[in-house]
Amino acid sequence: MQAGGDIALALHHAHAAQPPLLELVKDAMGAASPAASVRPAPDVPEPDDEGPLYVARRKIYPQRVKGTYRTIKWIVLFVTLGIYYGLPFVRWDRGPGAPDQAVLIDFPNRRFYFFFIELWPQEIYYLTGLLILAAMTLFLMNAVAGRVWCGYLCPQTVWTDLFQTIERWVEGDRREHLQRDRQPWTVERLGRSGLKHVLWLMLAWWTGGAWVLYFADAPTLVKELATFEAPLLAYVWIGILTFTTYTLAGHMREQVCLYMCPWPRIQAALTDEHALNVTYRYDRGEPRGSVKKSAALRVQGMPAGDCVDCYQCVYVCPTGVDIRSGPNLGCIQCGLCIDACDTVMAKIDRPARLIAYDTDLNIKRRQEGQPELYHIVRMRTVFYAGVIAIVAAVMAYALATRQSEGISVIHDRNPIFVRLSDGELRNGFTVRILNKSLERRSFVLTVEGLADIDLKIVGDTVTSGPMAVITVGPDQSHELRVLVSTYSSLPPAASIPLTFRITDAQTGQRASAVDHFRGP
Ligand code: SF4
Ligand code: SF4
Repeated sequence: MQAGGDIALALHHAHAAQPPLLELVKDAMGAASPAASVRPAPDVPEPDDEGPLYVARRKIYPQRVKGTYRTIKWIVLFVTLGIYYGLPFVRWDRGPGAPDQAVLIDFPNRRFYFFFIELWPQEIYYLTGLLILAAMTLFLMNAVAGRVWCGYLCPQTVWTDLFQTIERWVEGDRREHLQRDRQPWTVERLGRSGLKHVLWLMLAWWTGGAWVLYFADAPTLVKELATFEAPLLAYVWIGILTFTTYTLAGHMREQVCLYMCPWPRIQAALTDEHALNVTYRYDRGEPRGSVKKSAALRVQGMPAGDCVDCYQCVYVCPTGVDIRSGPNLGCIQCGLCIDACDTVMAKIDRPARLIAYDTDLNIKRRQEGQPELYHIVRMRTVFYAGVIAIVAAVMAYALATRQSEGISVIHDRNPIFVRLSDGELRNGFTVRILNKSLERRSFVLTVEGLADIDLKIVGDTVTSGPMAVITVGPDQSHELRVLVSTYSSLPPAASIPLTFRITDAQTGQRASAVDHFRGP
């Protein structure tokens, strides 16, 4: 009993991020129970804090697995890829003269269309709101269930999953692929490898091809691409994205998560003891050993864990992590090891969820005989949800009350003012009038702030007096040079606020901007 207790205690400490102890524990287990043989996993690195700074990459051969989380991953994969590949072809009627693509980034005309929303460059602040929403959603997901984003939604995960599936189709499952890779090159092996890379490149090409469809009318661009009449830039971008997809998802895979992506580091700093993470319940699994050995130990009243040390959880892991070693930067929390272990538990007639979404806190509480505690509603989740709600509400209000007209004014930099021969003082401004509606509109431009004002539009010899009428085409902006003059006497170094106002001649809708009239 004492030996078993020591082992369990040592394992608890080993789990608390002291990997070298794991080796000692395995030794202790072997000494205490010869039947608890540890089957080596040839392609699985053992945790070792004192190892070299640089470790050569070990190729990972993830094994196929079935189960709840694998099904969830398939569903998420099909939904997200379906949206990505299909969205450019969704139509949205915006009226005559406007593009009918639901989601379109129109660089030539400097517009972003998202279903009923049309954003102009002046409204880039909506992007800030979107980024805040995205960051807070990521933080909330992390506070509730760890790296859900990494495990299910991240493009790197989704495409890597797809590339690995193709690899398994062509090269076989883990064991077959491993054996094939150990054999010398043959025509058959070359053929399989070639087929895999061709399929990968085709998928990568589709990925890049779908991306460019967001920047032009998709059906038209598809025709142009097929007939080699598309702009050169489209082919260049497809080439770049084909290369990056093929490299990142086909070759680099888990290396992106381990070495390139900052999120695992940020996530580790943001998590807390209540966040649900894929966790090996070592309180239940240890001391690990073979089925027979564990059964024998139980008969003798000795402690025996449910883990049969079969390494199935490691073999299915897309990043090659042994979840039993505790929290790991390489674990993307995909849940596939849960499915693998559940299958093993079903076979040996032990309860499922030896690996599960759980917390270290609960393991500790169970060991102390206390009930489990799931604490989803807490300060940080309430804070993140609150920020999301506020930012979403502000954005919704801003969109709902968005004006369909606008004006911006820039004072001439040089000269700041001009004194004419008849004594009149003149300032020059560049005025841009925006018409965001889909109809041609006439705006009355007025300038307020000085008692005696004369407006002149450069190029317009007719307009003279305190106002001008400007016509702007549908969904367009119109830039004009406006000269504002006055005979009024101004104080020295005057800087008088001027309000430039446009008023729709038909509807009366208004917009204004403020600049200053400068004097000597
Ligand atoms: S799959 Fe389950 S039983 Fe097998 S090694 Fe992993 S944790 Fe242990
Ligand atoms: S350890 Fe489990 S949850 Fe983590 S990446 Fe590997 S399979 Fe996914």
